[in-house]
Amino acid sequence: MRAILNFLKKIIKGNKAEVAPATPVDTNVRIYARSEHTISRSQISENALKVLYRLQKEGYEAYLVGGCVRDLLLGREPKDFDVVTNADPEQVKKVFRNCRLIGRRFRLAHVHFGREIIEVATFRGASDSENNKQVLDKEGRLLRDNIYGSIEEDVWRRDFTVNALYYNIKDFSVVDYVHGMDDHKAATLKLIGDPATRFREDPVRMIRAVRFAVKLGFNIHADCEKPMHDLAGLLASIPSARLYDEALKLFLSGYALQTFEMLRHYGLFKELFPATEASLAIEEDGFPRQLLVKALENSDNRIAQGKTVTAYFLFAAFLWEPVQILAKKKLSRGDPEFIAYQEAANEVLSRQVKSTAMPKHITLAMREVWSLQPKFNIRVGSKPSRLLTHPRFRAGYDFLLLRAESGGADAEVAEWWTRYHLADENEQRKMTQPPRGAATGKRKRTYRRKPKSDTPSPDA
Ligand code: ATP
Ligand code: MG
Repeated sequence: MRAILNFLKKIIKGNKAEVAPATPVDTNVRIYARSEHTISRSQISENALKVLYRLQKEGYEAYLVGGCVRDLLLGREPKDFDVVTNADPEQVKKVFRNCRLIGRRFRLAHVHFGREIIEVATFRGASDSENNKQVLDKEGRLLRDNIYGSIEEDVWRRDFTVNALYYNIKDFSVVDYVHGMDDHKAATLKLIGDPATRFREDPVRMIRAVRFAVKLGFNIHADCEKPMHDLAGLLASIPSARLYDEALKLFLSGYALQTFEMLRHYGLFKELFPATEASLAIEEDGFPRQLLVKALENSDNRIAQGKTVTAYFLFAAFLWEPVQILAKKKLSRGDPEFIAYQEAANEVLSRQVKSTAMPKHITLAMREVWSLQPKFNIRVGSKPSRLLTHPRFRAGYDFLLLRAESGGADAEVAEWWTRYHLADENEQRKMTQPPRGAATGKRKRTYRRKPKSDTPSPDA
């Protein structure tokens, strides 16, 4: 039995896709020699160079491709370095000891160097009727494609022309099949092939267009812009986990505000955050919009200053207004305050995760930030000092500042908390003492400031 199995394995192995011919055959190819472009090896990560040289030494083709080439040409430091080769994943694995194969939709090799991972992909092939391993759904979306091919075929699988430039380790040239260099110089994002077809194949490309336009300061070519408004709705067919990953890239990039504006312009934002979009439509005095815009601005400023930003804080700002709106509806129906806000948060979150599947720890943290808000209204007794020790105090306090800045919370309360959390213990004790006369019962006073604004009462 084992012998038969081994025999079958051998046959299967032997039938593996042939690797591509070593030189490009496309007549339209334009090769930019080392002297005709600005990419120097000193800009390339040492580990990426090691991978490229090693593959070349083993007789394979090896190129840098995608975002790293695009960014190097702009003189920017790439986020990561992607390599493509004509070696298939198993062959790559044999070349590198520190290599793992990943991916189901398309198998990739990850070559590990401590914390840096160099991704090595095999050229993707085009589909044809005989060798059709490409699977499309009824909307034309690509579900699976696991065909290896040549560099000429690989080009057509990429999204934008500026993302389809190949830096060849053999002679340090840049290989360009799609006028990517021209578009790069013109700072234009142009899809390879027919834009509507390419967006249908993978609607996430619409989001990528916005992300790159903002990040690189490029224009989206008019032909690509046109179908975006019509096809935005196709994002509904994308798995919500993938959209969550995209949302992180969009909003934690340091250009969140501009990205938000552009996504709205193309009708894409509502596909990612439908409840937020709906809340923006019923804005009163620009109020919800201001909180969101302030949150996006703050986040961009923090990144510019090298500070960290957290996804949950930003998404808490995205959904704050939808929760308020829904809770108010429930209150007007007579639901108790605590229940109204709890249920509103539950409903808003459970609807949101259908578009962008936020992980549990994120939604949990969002809820915590929200539920801390009414607690900031208590400023006497032992509760304020207990609040200081809450693990989410900082995020809750920052959120309070944001609400105060955008007119949704009492500025005086925010200012009090700023003084309080910076004060020494003595001062803090003084600040939280009940006003004189209160303990004697002579004067009846309420110590809880009634929120003029958008929070439930402290006990809610
Ligand atoms: P970033 O700087 O954000 O990493 P990038 O261009 O490198 O930008 P990646 O998502 O890392 O983006 O993808 C690497 C390359 O793979 C792209 O440059 C593009 O050539 C190709 N690619 C990625 N996603 C798609 C897609 N959805 N459709 C077609 N090609 C894609
Ligand atoms: Mg990349």
